Amino acid sequence: MSDIRAAIIPVTPFQQNCTLLWNDRTKKGAVIDPGGDLDRIRQAIAETGVTIEKILLTHGHIDHAGGAAELKEELGVPVEGPHEADRFLLDHLPETGRGYGLKGVRAVTPDRFLQEGDTVTVGDLTLDVLHCPGHSPGSVVFVAGPQRFAIVGDVLFQGSVGRTDLPGGDGKALLRSINEKLLPLGDDVAFICGHGPTSTIGQERQTNPFLQGEGLL
Ligand SMILES: [Zn+2]
Ligand SMILES: [Zn+2]
Repeated sequence: MSDIRAAIIPVTPFQQNCTLLWNDRTKKGAVIDPGGDLDRIRQAIAETGVTIEKILLTHGHIDHAGGAAELKEELGVPVEGPHEADRFLLDHLPETGRGYGLKGVRAVTPDRFLQEGDTVTVGDLTLDVLHCPGHSPGSVVFVAGPQRFAIVGDVLFQGSVGRTDLPGGDGKALLRSINEKLLPLGDDVAFICGHGPTSTIGQERQTNPFLQGEGLL
C-alpha cells in the first residue's frame, strides 16, 4: 500500500469503524464516516499528525454520519458522499439521534454528492466511487484499485452483509451491488467495512454464507 496508511477508530454505541486514511509521506488525509465520539477521532488525528483535507461518507446512517456536521465545521473541510439517494437520511439525523437517545446530532449537507464512476482524492490517492444501493439507497464504496483496497461501509462485512430492513433498504439490490460491483474487484482486494474486522473480496466470495449459491434472497 505504498505510503497509504489507515487507522480504524470504533465510534458510537454501534462500534462503527470510522477510518482515518492518509498518506504517510505528505501527512494529508481524510476522515471516513465520523459517526460520533469526536474526541476519539480528534485524538487519532493528533496522534498521527495528519492534516485532514476532507470528510468522506459511505452512507447516511447515524453511526456513519452523525458527527460529520460538527467535524466539518471544526476542521473547515468539505464533506463528499454519499450518493444523493441518502439525502433523506442525512436530513433526518437529529430525529434519528433522539430516537436512539443520542444528544446533539446534527443534519449534514454534503458539499458534493457522489455517483457511480466519480472519483475522490485523498492527498495524492485517487479513489473510485461505486454506487452500491441495498443497505441504504445511497451507499457508496471507495476503491483504491492500484493499491488493492476498498472502504465498503455497510454493504459487505466479514461473514455477513448489510441489513436491509431500514428505510430504503432492498435485499435484492444489495446482493446485486455485491455481485456486480464488489466481487469483480478481485479476490486480492482487502476492505475495511463499517463494523467488525477487515476482510478480502476473495475470503468473502469463498466463505460468506450470504454469497453462496444462486439467487439467494
Ligand atoms: Zn448503515
Ligand atoms: Zn453502520
